[in-house]
Amino acid sequence: ELLLDINNLHASVEDQPILKGVNLQVRAGEIHAVMGRNGSGKSTLSKVLAGHPAYRVTAGTVRYRGSDLFELEPEERARLGVFLGFQYPVEIPGVSNLEFLRVAANARRSKQGLEELDTFDFEDHVQQKLQVVQMDPAFLERSVNEGFSGGEKKRNEILQMALLDPVVAILDETDSGLDIDALRIVAGGVNQLATPDNATLLITHYQRLLDEITPDYVHVMAAGRILRTGSRDLALELEKTGYDWVDKELAAQGV
Ligand code: ADP
Ligand code: MG
Ligand code: MG
Repeated sequence: ELLLDINNLHASVEDQPILKGVNLQVRAGEIHAVMGRNGSGKSTLSKVLAGHPAYRVTAGTVRYRGSDLFELEPEERARLGVFLGFQYPVEIPGVSNLEFLRVAANARRSKQGLEELDTFDFEDHVQQKLQVVQMDPAFLERSVNEGFSGGEKKRNEILQMALLDPVVAILDETDSGLDIDALRIVAGGVNQLATPDNATLLITHYQRLLDEITPDYVHVMAAGRILRTGSRDLALELEKTGYDWVDKELAAQGV
């Protein structure tokens, strides 16, 4: 099944064109990695898919399971199974993590035709998912992300992902601040949650993340487009040769 179909996507920030014709098809059962230099447009792509209000789509289409993604409100995208990792590391003082997760999970469950869980049933359900991220249950009682370390926020994000049972998970592992523990949490979560029915779009600067997650496709972004697509070997090649070929290829294309 074609889950995500991105065609000729153009987007601007403050009237500055950033995405300049992104094409990407993601099918069920696939893991895609999107790599590229700083400033190539990786995070812009994830923010556009999330529906961030600062980003304006100027051309192209994105279809999620056949529907126009941009016709769906961001919350509706989440309920229908589009998970966007970076949306959640906000701190919400006064709201317990457990209750926050329960509300989000129930919104998703109602769309899946599953019964909504009360506090007691949800606690049991969460306990099973905690092992995915080896998270201390004490974190469920704390306010959402308040005072969490970077690694704890990352665990919480992957726990959210486990609870929301996404159809397409889009994880933007931003270029700074991911230590080796956080990388392992992300890798472990992605690997444990991948099924033949879902897909992951992993946006990453880190080839070393791909030592632990084997992507089916690796895409290299440059100047707001996907310049090259290959297998896992492309990521290994990038590690050896760097991105110098990108400049040559862009120059050859007159960009
Ligand atoms: P990457 O994630 O690949 O490092 P980004 O998508 O963050 O790249 O950025 C791509 C380009 O868009 C950069 O030149 C960046 O400065 C610009 N950009 C991104 N967000 C904004 C913004 N909110 N305002 C102005 N420029 C932005
Ligand atoms: Mg196409
Ligand atoms: Mg980025």
